[in-house]
Amino acid sequence: MSKNVLIVGGGIGGLTAALCLARSGHQVTVFERSSKVQDIGAGIQCGANAVRVLDHLGLRHQIEQVSVKPREIVFRDYLYGSPLYQVELGKKYEDKYGAPYFHIHRADLYAMLYEAAGAHSSVDVLTDSDVRDFEETSDQVRVILSSGETFQGDLLIASDGIRSTIRKQIHSDKSAVYTGNVAWRATVATNKLPADFMPTVTTNFVGPRKHMVLYYLRAGELLNMVGVVEKQSHAGDSWKSKGDVRELQKDFSGWHPMVETVIDSVERDQCYQWALYDHRPINKWGTDRVVLLGDAAHATLPFIASGAAMAIEDARILDRCLTECNSVKTAIKKYQFNRFDRTSKVQNISRKFGKLYHIPNRLLLKTAFAGLRALGGKKEDFLPEYDANTIPLK
Ligand SMILES: Cc1cc2nc3c(=O)[nH]c(=O)nc-3n(C[C@H](O)[C@H](O)[C@H](O)COP(=O)(O)OP(=O)(O)OC[C@H]3O[C@@H](n4cnc5c(N)ncnc54)[C@H](O)[C@@H]3O)c2cc1C
Repeated sequence: MSKNVLIVGGGIGGLTAALCLARSGHQVTVFERSSKVQDIGAGIQCGANAVRVLDHLGLRHQIEQVSVKPREIVFRDYLYGSPLYQVELGKKYEDKYGAPYFHIHRADLYAMLYEAAGAHSSVDVLTDSDVRDFEETSDQVRVILSSGETFQGDLLIASDGIRSTIRKQIHSDKSAVYTGNVAWRATVATNKLPADFMPTVTTNFVGPRKHMVLYYLRAGELLNMVGVVEKQSHAGDSWKSKGDVRELQKDFSGWHPMVETVIDSVERDQCYQWALYDHRPINKWGTDRVVLLGDAAHATLPFIASGAAMAIEDARILDRCLTECNSVKTAIKKYQFNRFDRTSKVQNISRKFGKLYHIPNRLLLKTAFAGLRALGGKKEDFLPEYDANTIPLK
């Protein structure tokens, strides 16, 4: 039966949920506190598991127009650039998993999701709408905005990110904890870099207590840089927190010339520093009419580039649970039951990979990657193999 669904947070998770639910015949209102589509100058990596859901929403063709398909991910030694470990992507990956691996600009993905939501008659996206609270009865849920306005629905989805207001009201779990890592972020126009600077791959330079990931965006017009460094203090934890490019230069001084070249090309006012916070897995994702989705339920460190993909998978599974169950309460239970193990696994593996990339001793680091090579790539399958459109629900 068609439901009136309220969604707090118009990020990647919230908008994907809105589109999945509208496609299944529900009426959806999204409340987003910011005033416009996010224009964050950063990239996002999207594996087959996420692409399949975006394909279900009819967005695959649009994504193909603005994204880059990398051939492989190469982990390299931070000093000499010697390859330590490779993950094959490109055609082989696409043939194996039935969907490609994309790099896309966040602003492009947001814009695409917003446009699709705006074009759907069953979705209302209300910007400048900060949700302060909710109230729940046995047959309804109500959100209260900071403006005092209230809205009533059958189900409330909280996709309001790592600092979720709704999560704090339904779970006694403490606040997110600073991991001791900051992520430097910038995008650089490729025409500012030497010709043939890097093939179409993701390059991840790893070294003691730091790593740097480089990949192309927008058909190769931009190079995306994410440099993670262990630090006691940080500039801020918003996507808009600026960092000082001189500090970035110092952090990666003496690293491989490719890293130094990129950093030297970063515009002073386009250098961002984002503190990485973490949540342990929690086993209470909702009440009878309220449910957490994406980072609000399971904030995931970026070390295997899968937090947004988990939010996208959540959206599709919640949609299917609502279709399969005859009450909101059972759908919420079924959704958590089907998502908890996978998202906890991804949270835990991301944490472990962060430690692996930053092993302080170079020889030990090389040995650890040799160990990964010996596993023959098997461990990566669990991410792209998951098909949220078809996986049988328990
Ligand atoms: C450096 C870095 C790199 C990353 N790279 C990748 C990657 O390559 N691939 C990948 O899959 N993941 C990646 N991630 C993770 C990914 O960014 C997150 O997992 C993803 O953005 C989570 O989406 P979300 O919709 O759950 O939350 P968010 O993106 O945080 O969206 C939450 C939304 O809710 C709104 N909001 C918050 N509170 C309220 C309120 N009270 N009322 C109304 N609105 C509210 C916010 O304004 C925001 O728009 C990366 C993360 C970092 C830090």
